[in-house]
Amino acid sequence: MASGWASDDAVQEQIDSSIEDAIARARSQLPTGASLSHCEECEALIPEARRQAIPGVRLCVACQAEHDKEQAKFSGYNRRGSKDSQLR
Ligand SMILES: [Zn+2]
Repeated sequence: MASGWASDDAVQEQIDSSIEDAIARARSQLPTGASLSHCEECEALIPEARRQAIPGVRLCVACQAEHDKEQAKFSGYNRRGSKDSQLR
């Protein structure tokens, strides 16, 4: 009786390495989970309180406001309001 092609140790190693792979993959794919310490756009420091309030925050208050404005424009929500303020 020859011993099998794989020892129990080898099987255990395979299991371990596939778990490590899964963890590594999960780490590299952090979706929007991690909050940034500095703004993605202007690199301003994002206050701790803001990071805790908004999980996955990537922008400082100023840049977020700009983004919100852009979003409003695209959705047409703020179109009339901005036109009025340009005229006055
Ligand atoms: Zn910013």
